[in-house]
Amino acid sequence: MGDKEREIGCFTCAHRQIVTSAFQNTMCAACGAYIDLRDFKIITPFGRSIQTGGEVLIGDKGDVSSTKIMCGSATIEGRLRGYMICTGTLTIKRKGAVTGGIESETLVIAKRADVDFSRTIKTRIFEVNGRAHARVIAEKVIIHKGGYVDGAIYARSIIVDKGGVFSGELFIGHDNAVAAEESVNLQALDNEEEATPEQIRDKSDDDNEPQLGLL
Ligand SMILES: [Zn+2]
Repeated sequence: MGDKEREIGCFTCAHRQIVTSAFQNTMCAACGAYIDLRDFKIITPFGRSIQTGGEVLIGDKGDVSSTKIMCGSATIEGRLRGYMICTGTLTIKRKGAVTGGIESETLVIAKRADVDFSRTIKTRIFEVNGRAHARVIAEKVIIHKGGYVDGAIYARSIIVDKGGVFSGELFIGHDNAVAAEESVNLQALDNEEEATPEQIRDKSDDDNEPQLGLL
């Protein structure tokens, strides 16, 4: 990884700030909360919690049952059964079910993904290049060429590009989104034990021993 900058969100106060990706951690400029910035790659069954401003990759053999994963960005190729909150972009590359909960800034369904979401998704932007069966609460939905969504969408706006398909129930307007939001189950966010180093492999090989932060 170079010294490229990225924008992260504080998990405590939601303040957004720019950091250099070389940093392993930082403090929120607004509230002073500690923010871990390391990236994690999950390639085995995994049941602990993570809180990082960095990226979480669930590889195709990864199977995440954690009650809570909070991260800056994420890519899901494997199984997600717990709850994931992502302050940036969460990309789904999976073919199959996602039974866990998802809350993100931007949710991208990758071109070759074909995913069946069991729980209502909450995201500001929902961008679809592949196929998804979902119930989604979003501000903005974009279905690109080749994208296909069936299910229910509650949004303020939707764009379906030529060659994109939406099939299902569509509710446009703020009140609908709020009503739907109230019915979303955001339980299962209780604190649990943090992840231990042996269960996670830090993506950058020459970095320090992965260990989670001082909360
Ligand atoms: Zn903060």
